[in-house]
Amino acid sequence: TDLSRIRNFSIIAHIDHGKSTLADRFIQTCGGLSDREMAEQVLDSMDLERERGITIKAQSVTLNYTAKDGIEYKLNFIDTPGHVDFSYEVSRSLYACEGALLVVDAGQGVEAQSVANCYTAIEQGLEVVPVLNKMDLPQAEPERVAQEIEDIIGIEAADAVRCSAKSGLGVEDVLEDLIKRIPPPSGDVDGPLKALIIDSWFDNYLGVVSLVRVTQGSLKKGDKIVIKSTGRAWNADRVGIFTPKLTDTGVLGTGDVGFVVAGIKDIHGAPVGDTIVHQKGAEEAKALPGFQKVKPQVYAGLFPIRSDDYDDFRDALEKLTLNDASLFYEPENSDALGFGFRCGFLGMLHMEIIQERLEREYNLELITTAPTVIYEVLTTRGETVSVDNPSRLPDIGSIEEMREPIVEANILVPQEHLGNVIALCEDKRGIQKNMHFLSTQVQLTYELPMAEVVMDFFDRIKSASRGFASLDYHFVRFQPANLVRLDVLINGERVDALALILHKDQAHYRGRALVEKMKELIPRQMFDIAIQAAIGNQVVSRVTVKALRKNVTAKCYGGDVSRKKKLLQKQKEGKKRMKQLGNVEVPQDAFLAVLKVD
Ligand code: GDP
Ligand code: MG
Repeated sequence: TDLSRIRNFSIIAHIDHGKSTLADRFIQTCGGLSDREMAEQVLDSMDLERERGITIKAQSVTLNYTAKDGIEYKLNFIDTPGHVDFSYEVSRSLYACEGALLVVDAGQGVEAQSVANCYTAIEQGLEVVPVLNKMDLPQAEPERVAQEIEDIIGIEAADAVRCSAKSGLGVEDVLEDLIKRIPPPSGDVDGPLKALIIDSWFDNYLGVVSLVRVTQGSLKKGDKIVIKSTGRAWNADRVGIFTPKLTDTGVLGTGDVGFVVAGIKDIHGAPVGDTIVHQKGAEEAKALPGFQKVKPQVYAGLFPIRSDDYDDFRDALEKLTLNDASLFYEPENSDALGFGFRCGFLGMLHMEIIQERLEREYNLELITTAPTVIYEVLTTRGETVSVDNPSRLPDIGSIEEMREPIVEANILVPQEHLGNVIALCEDKRGIQKNMHFLSTQVQLTYELPMAEVVMDFFDRIKSASRGFASLDYHFVRFQPANLVRLDVLINGERVDALALILHKDQAHYRGRALVEKMKELIPRQMFDIAIQAAIGNQVVSRVTVKALRKNVTAKCYGGDVSRKKKLLQKQKEGKKRMKQLGNVEVPQDAFLAVLKVD
């Protein structure tokens, strides 16, 4: 192997700055796929990713590129997700690379997510190569944006390549530039095998497929290998690369990125961050430093509407975790909703995606309860317990102290929207830590309660800045806070699935807003429905959904059959997502009402 002809790099960028489009251009330029195969955005393969136009899983591609110096280089690149929920995928793929291509939309400028990812890349010792994309747009301002990259990220960007992933302009220059600037991999070519597992997923035909980076020695088809942390031995049945199609090559040398299939049936048998070695000498071999394990940040209860679906639901979750080790679940039993699962997600987008997949791919109808972060409770007996479910909060008398998770949020916002964004942060109980004026943008650092940030902060910051502000955040610590549990009672019955943990100062106001919202969402029925919000035994708010007087359809204009049919149809559809609580029918929306109040 000639390591000097290999380049391994990731593409990092904020959502929509053109990573996937540029990646597709690279594939096209290097002839990885025929035009017919070159369906739009080949790298965003999962249906959901394509529909939402986002990348969830990191994807790798190996390409051969003959540079202007006449030498053929092997380029391994990894396209990474841009959303904050999936930033752990980014840092993982960076481990496999010597460089990172920073794609910045020349019409937009630097955004918070790319700053965070760049810092991670720089910390890991990667060479960061900036490129200015979307140069075909009339609003492109390459000089301003290059200056911004220098100011905010601190890397040289004056002669960053200007390109358009859309038109193809400058794309070859990008490839030339990264060959020049990104160092080739290093490693002992003849040493004993060491390969880092960057990602593992379950394929229905192949079983577990692992994406690996060989850091030392080589991995050949037929080799007896051991997964270090499990100590189990396997046979490397298939070894190869993605072009982006899975292609057998029979060998991966030092510095290569590719796949191995070894008859493993369960992804826990090939954990991400683990090391693959040869069976001979496996005991003595030292594992490579792995990755930090990701922890879910948002929890919610998911319950099948029909209790018959419980087993299917469990099977579906089991299957989903085969490909998504960050999804957590455990059985939950609710008085109101019956048997279901408490699930842990990386963030709200992750939660929405899982919910959507369960419904679409597994045909399940589910009720989701209000998402919550994890709280820490110090009990009077001196124990510290984690609470991921408000209805499981220990008895108020046995609580010594409650602590909420705090995040550090980094925000980039154009100066004209600064006031709005600061007002929003203050409103969300934020503490300003830093404010830094750059040429046109302001870099803000705030500490905020995670509960305020994970829910709808992202959308709010976008609307407070007409779409221009961007946000990145990470957990910093648990901090004592004055928190209470707010219960919701329907016709006098406490509904465990509707309980919330709130800041005491906001509990009255939010309790009122919540019951008002629920009143709008719960359809009128044949009897009055009382909805109450209570803290302990104290009712803080009460509303009544008045009983229906007449049949709804009586309201229709005389004899308009089609309209009547439509109305009945609409009611039926609405019903699909209803859950019977006692004798009251409660729609899905009402369980998530808290997300709809300010
Ligand atoms: P990603 O989220 O960073 O992967 O971004 P995508 O590659 O999905 O691109 C986001 C949007 O920008 C898509 O609608 C692309 O067609 C568009 N886009 C990407 N590159 C360019 C470009 O160079 N010029 C223009 N005008 N649009 C682009
Ligand atoms: Mg993408």
